[in-house]
Amino acid sequence: MERIALLGCTGSIGTQVLNVVRRHGDKYKIEALVCNSNVSALLKAAKEFKPSYCGVVNLSVFNESQYKSDIVLDFSIDAQKTAATLFDVDTVIVASKGLLALPAVIEAIKLKKKILLATKEILVSAGKLITDFAKRNGVNLIPIDSEHSALLQCLQGNENNRIEKIILTASGGPFRTWPFDKIKQAKAKDALKHPNWEMGAKITIDSATLMNKGLEFIEAMRLFGVSADQIEVLIHPQSIIHSMVQFEDGSVMAQMGLPDMRLPILYALTGPRRYKNNFGKLDLLLHNSLTFEKPDTVRFPCLALAQQAAVSGGTLPAVMNTLNELAVNAYLKDEISFYGISSLIEGAFRSYTNKQITDVQDVWDAEAWAVQFFERR
Ligand code: MG
Repeated sequence: MERIALLGCTGSIGTQVLNVVRRHGDKYKIEALVCNSNVSALLKAAKEFKPSYCGVVNLSVFNESQYKSDIVLDFSIDAQKTAATLFDVDTVIVASKGLLALPAVIEAIKLKKKILLATKEILVSAGKLITDFAKRNGVNLIPIDSEHSALLQCLQGNENNRIEKIILTASGGPFRTWPFDKIKQAKAKDALKHPNWEMGAKITIDSATLMNKGLEFIEAMRLFGVSADQIEVLIHPQSIIHSMVQFEDGSVMAQMGLPDMRLPILYALTGPRRYKNNFGKLDLLLHNSLTFEKPDTVRFPCLALAQQAAVSGGTLPAVMNTLNELAVNAYLKDEISFYGISSLIEGAFRSYTNKQITDVQDVWDAEAWAVQFFERR
């Protein structure tokens, strides 16, 4: 039995992880569950999976009398760290928001736990600090992101072959065919209608701005040790090819499947082994047109900004990531426009002095700078 700590158990990925574990209960056991603030969803999951530890990070929801249950809840800002470092935990699945789990990931690496990462923001902001630290400790960071899972699958068996190019595919999001002037007026509720994937609100907006692909661009550099000029982003509206690797002989490996996050979740748990499942299977006669387009960075400037941050490195990706998070929140509340997101990031890039990351404090400093910049806007 592989024993799992699930950080961010009530979000979109967290609930799908539980869904996968429910079907493979003979191999996986939920040992710890941690949520940010959705206590009732946590309790519901705890009743079913009976973990030995349940934690809640957000102290503002602390109200014990309100939760009539015999399940013990640990209200603590360190709940993620506690869960990730439990002796009885083999595998830590990180699906919580933003950088919340960064300290827990660092501790889990020290203890050489298996780490499955659905939160790309950690790889974007802490970058090489985390990947180098994991490498030194012999820990593999396994992605739960459909594109990076695809890349991992394409690379398996090709460990000794040089990657010539990674082709990162993107659906293009809900505004792919909209003209600039219409996108300019688009509200968050328009963006929340994603054509292929059902996801949380933050990533759905990131997908509409193409910032999600920008974050994934940096994520791919970190996970697979490639440089920015080895990654090509292609819009592939059908979301059937989840990404590709081209090798030096010109051969291109692609991983295909229906857009269903349970597949990359299951593969992250079991890979390189494959388990039988009852998810929908791809029928190419129903999906008989696979098309590709060049991304338009005039209508979607966030992609170009992320690529700029990727090339610059240092703390710039962390500044971008935090500002994007704050800007997306503001956009969701109708406080700024669609292009307000990219112009905020652009403004920050102009006034920020980039630094190298030497320890985790540099990441927190970059985050704090971005918060200040956002508040002064
Ligand atoms: Mg993805």
